[in-house]
Amino acid sequence: MAWASKTFDPGASEPFKLSRSKLDLFTDCPRCAYLDLRLGVKRVSGPSFTLNNAVDELLKREFDAHRVRGTVHPLAAAYGVNARPFDDPRMEEWRDALRRGIATHHKPSNLILRGGVDDVWQTDAGELIIVDYKATSKKEAPKTAGDLYDSYKKQIEIYQWLFRQNGFSVSPTAYFVYVNGRSDAVAFDAKLEFDVNLIAYTGNDSWVDDALMRLKEMLMSEEIPKMGTAFGGGPCDFCTYREAAGKALLAQHGTVRESKKKEEEKPRKPALGTGSLF
Ligand code: SF4
Repeated sequence: MAWASKTFDPGASEPFKLSRSKLDLFTDCPRCAYLDLRLGVKRVSGPSFTLNNAVDELLKREFDAHRVRGTVHPLAAAYGVNARPFDDPRMEEWRDALRRGIATHHKPSNLILRGGVDDVWQTDAGELIIVDYKATSKKEAPKTAGDLYDSYKKQIEIYQWLFRQNGFSVSPTAYFVYVNGRSDAVAFDAKLEFDVNLIAYTGNDSWVDDALMRLKEMLMSEEIPKMGTAFGGGPCDFCTYREAAGKALLAQHGTVRESKKKEEEKPRKPALGTGSLF
């Protein structure tokens, strides 16, 4: 099933589909979520991180090799995690963040939430472990859950929730395969080296249900919500730009209208041969 992005219609009875990133947007800033999901005005997206995408792709291939063989990846083994990449025919579908992913119909809100997961591992007891790949390049590589952004934690908790809603037994412990590009080599030499860490994070998805209910309530309302607190209670750069651009355009529009009005109010010279000059 392909996912078309469309705006929410309060009068519609069919479930409304949204991606995990829209729930993130709502928890960050309800106003932006309203602009996007109700009014169809999306926040400007940045350039895509093609190097990160390449790292993700290579990691997927590497873990897939262990999925096929049914073996524990050496990184997991090095951290004492006895889990193998989950060998399930739906893995490709669940990893397809753009068109499919894993989805569930949350009946109390009549919203269908979906998300594309990076990887899923399975313990010998059959419990699933949600895994996310992250790539960065920092002087100090992230090593513990305390080094993770809150948005990363929320993201993995939504995946845990989605898999639980689909009937799977999911471990509260999730893992980030965090690769950090090293910038301390003598030269580039057409290669970038990475340190790889496995970071355990104990997720708590109990907020997801309530967030979906609040999101639905917002979507049903005609009131444009206030900005969220994700940016310290103030507007983020997008809003600052939008407001500055809007004010400048309105001011310019006002000046043009004023000069047009003045132009129209100027007494017109009678055309030659028409009025009575004498
Ligand atoms: S501060 Fe403004 S642009 Fe930024 S997320 Fe909120 S509404 Fe959107």
